[in-house]
Amino acid sequence: MGLPTCKEVHRLASEKLDRPLTMIEHLRMRLHLLVCDACRTFNGQMAILRKAMRKLPSIDPTESKEK
Ligand SMILES: [Zn+2]
Repeated sequence: MGLPTCKEVHRLASEKLDRPLTMIEHLRMRLHLLVCDACRTFNGQMAILRKAMRKLPSIDPTESKEK
């Protein structure tokens, strides 16, 4: 069991949005983020996106026309 690949980390990052990661998965992801700038950036953007999505109420496209 070596370091997870970028692909695995990307998968985990998106799965994290749907379900809590296991301790192992979380650890592997953290480990990879320590050594991989690309994934750190990717993961950061994912977190920002998630925060932004949480702030917004679920948007109904028909209602947004009101403005
Ligand atoms: Zn990576």
